[in-house]
Amino acid sequence: MTASSHPKRGADVLHDPVLNKGTAFTDAERDALGLRGLLPPRVMSQDEQLARILPGVRGKDSPIEQYSYLVALHDRNVTLFYRLVMDHLEELMPVLYTPTVGQACQEFGRIFRRSRGMYVTADDRGRVAEVLENWPVDDVRMIVVTDGERILGLGDLGANGMGIPIGKLTLYTACAGISPHQCLPITIDVGTDNTDLRESHAYLGLRQPRLRGPAYDELLDEFVEAVQKRFPLTCLQFEDFGNHNAFALLERWRDRICTFNDDIQGTAAVALAGLYSSSRLTGTPLKDMRLLFLGAGEAGIGIGDLVVEALVEEGVPLEVARKQCWFVDSKGLVVQSRTDLQEHKQRYAHDHAPVADLLAAVEELKPHAIIGVSGTPATFTAQVLAAMARNHARPVVLALSNPTSKAECTALQAYQGTDGRAIFASGSPFAPVTYKGKTHVPGQGNNSYIFPGVGLGVIVSESTRVTDEMFAAAAKTLAEMVTQDDLDMGRIFPSLSRIREVSAAIAIEVATIAFERGLARCERPADLAAAVAAAMYEPNYTSAI
Ligand code: NAD
Repeated sequence: MTASSHPKRGADVLHDPVLNKGTAFTDAERDALGLRGLLPPRVMSQDEQLARILPGVRGKDSPIEQYSYLVALHDRNVTLFYRLVMDHLEELMPVLYTPTVGQACQEFGRIFRRSRGMYVTADDRGRVAEVLENWPVDDVRMIVVTDGERILGLGDLGANGMGIPIGKLTLYTACAGISPHQCLPITIDVGTDNTDLRESHAYLGLRQPRLRGPAYDELLDEFVEAVQKRFPLTCLQFEDFGNHNAFALLERWRDRICTFNDDIQGTAAVALAGLYSSSRLTGTPLKDMRLLFLGAGEAGIGIGDLVVEALVEEGVPLEVARKQCWFVDSKGLVVQSRTDLQEHKQRYAHDHAPVADLLAAVEELKPHAIIGVSGTPATFTAQVLAAMARNHARPVVLALSNPTSKAECTALQAYQGTDGRAIFASGSPFAPVTYKGKTHVPGQGNNSYIFPGVGLGVIVSESTRVTDEMFAAAAKTLAEMVTQDDLDMGRIFPSLSRIREVSAAIAIEVATIAFERGLARCERPADLAAAVAAAMYEPNYTSAI
């Protein structure tokens, strides 16, 4: 059942954001639906509506005001919202997702107007299935769920984390054309340990410390099982869970249901694509690259694991592949002699003397690439960058921490610190930098290159699983779409303006794997590319009568 299956009339139509076209209702529709008199008389085309709205967005004083304006537009007219976002994706993506979404989460209580998505709370134990019944759409194909414990690099934001599933699903639609009506953002509110937030008058979540231990696990189990029953074809994407829970949930469910964790697997694929493309500039193939990660959390270990998977596929023995990946965490280099290592770090604990910090590790290991996934800004210091530049003609510097304020270094710092030789990409966008007369265009290692296409491929094939093979294929596909022009500008990812094309190409690869591995739950279409294209939502008005 979709909103449009309700035969609504009059003001009810205008108040339904799925049905509403605002001033674009034609004269015939106005007569047939009882809208005459409820709208200003001029009938506008969608293009005319866009021309009226765009200056409204651009005229706002700050990104967070633009964000609120766009949310309000979505609440009125979903079709027009997506037309605007898709036509101006490069401009609006940083407003709808990182970096602005971080601020939107921090200020969620202040800017909240109208509820979107679902909240499942610690108080819902024993009745989660009942709660999910309240969602008005049955054919949900993509769920993004968070428990708000580790929002971007901003920490525990509790129920305010809802901005993330909402933003992410907006990107599924905008980047890969997954129908907005098949998307469902969910926040599991188990409380927050952020006491300032909890005590603030505007906080909208449960005002209690986080549920942990067996009670948390039971709630999550109940949730996942209820989702399977209510939405059997859905893909459940975990997002921004705390470190321990993210790894545990992925391990628990990855071989049993259609699920993935974008912080771990999506990030990994986009970083792997960046490494593949950088090797076209450095001449060093992945199998000869030594990688040094700052941060050994979800993003770092996820990237390491996918790099290893890709190398093993190339015929490199597992242990040799793992030795190409080195990690520095907050206690120094991850080495065998350390006794404080969590399980997910242990496979990268190599036999090496302890090394105290990143600079010493760069000098000691001479990595081809440093990959910042620590959530800690200003850690790729001038000394670290200078050491990278001493060791390699084209050092690869990926400062992936989000939002912008958390990036390990800025684009300018990366180019200045390496005499303009760095191959630089970041998690949040940086403007082009002109250094010593050359303009460098920093690439954005944006997960949006990967997860929407993966989701679309999973939906088209009705896959029962999302596998690492699919992410490795997505990384290869993305890297292959980087043009020589991109590389000449120093950009190791394609232009965001090509994102729908990228998503479609990834979806075809992912669906192919699903069909070949026996994971698909539908017949393979005769023309898979055409089926993928046909599945992509276009935000055009259709006749309401
Ligand atoms: P996480 O909390 O799981 O891991 C962070 C890791 O960094 C931990 O191992 C921690 O010990 C380590 N760390 C913290 N401070 C450090 C320091 N000063 N020196 C060395 N290590 C330090 O978080 P995560 O999910 O791995 O995300 C990390 C960062 O990566 C976040 O800022 C996130 O926004 C970013 N990220 C970017 C992308 C992208 O650009 N595509 C994708 C995912 C995550």
